[in-house]
Amino acid sequence: MKGREGILGVHTRKIPLCDDVNVPVLARGTAGFSGADLASLVNEAALYAARCNQKTVRMLDFEFAKDKVLMGSERRSMIISDAEKRITAVHEAGHALLTVLLPHADPIHKVTIIPRGMALGLTQQLPVDEKHNYSREYLDDQIAILLGGRIAEEITSGSVTTGAGNDLERATELGRRMVCEWGMSDAMGPLTFGKKEEQIFLGREIAQHQDYSEDTAIKIDQEVKRIVMQNYERSREILIAEKVNLQKVAEELLVREVLDAEQVRRIAAGQALEQYTRPTVQPAAAGVDEDEARRRKERLPIMGPVPPLQKPLPAD
Ligand code: ZN
Repeated sequence: MKGREGILGVHTRKIPLCDDVNVPVLARGTAGFSGADLASLVNEAALYAARCNQKTVRMLDFEFAKDKVLMGSERRSMIISDAEKRITAVHEAGHALLTVLLPHADPIHKVTIIPRGMALGLTQQLPVDEKHNYSREYLDDQIAILLGGRIAEEITSGSVTTGAGNDLERATELGRRMVCEWGMSDAMGPLTFGKKEEQIFLGREIAQHQDYSEDTAIKIDQEVKRIVMQNYERSREILIAEKVNLQKVAEELLVREVLDAEQVRRIAAGQALEQYTRPTVQPAAAGVDEDEARRRKERLPIMGPVPPLQKPLPAD
């Protein structure tokens, strides 16, 4: 119960918010979170701040908490070979660069190669607003971004890995919905194909009724393939033209592990980032009274050592 007391101790201490906490940005990044998710987010952020010996909860703490709630804990102990890390960096660089270069995509929020949950890396986009409607251009760009990871692997190493499996599935699914649900295929016209029936009794499983002929089914498959392949070609052309910057993003990812939106934009614009120095674990800040220093000392073993993500990204 020792650990639990420690957590509750933090919980009831009411750590104040730091001035750098940007609530609108947090809100955009947590669309779809339930009340319980949000409560968990705040709690995790406070815990992380305490673990880093902070007197206030910073935006950095909320970022850490959001990633944890969204994707599970960091898996820094996961053994990843250098070659695998390199592939992940290139793959994520492909996604990240396209979010900057494609005009209708949601802007990039950050890109990381720290493994979390099932993912070896991740590119996060931040919707500008809460979307209820998606334009064809937006969906095309989204498909192109999803395919960008695999394409980046192809054009830099000449081979591909299984890492893009989920991306391809999501790209194909978007293409299929454009054709079957949203009437966005000129060849198929403004019709919907396949009536969806939500079967609540079957645990909300969605059963799809095929209400079209075999002939139509073949045409649908052709159209889905056309949409995905067109975006594949578009994405490939962009990444080949931007190969130097693609590699630059991957290299910076290997060094820094995380890049924020501004950093990716700067690399895409051909600008260099500041020299990066790996920060050491900070000693207790000056001006901490004895009491607080003792509390921190007691708390640290409960919470474990300060995780390396605490390193701040170089200020612009
Ligand atoms: Zn991917």
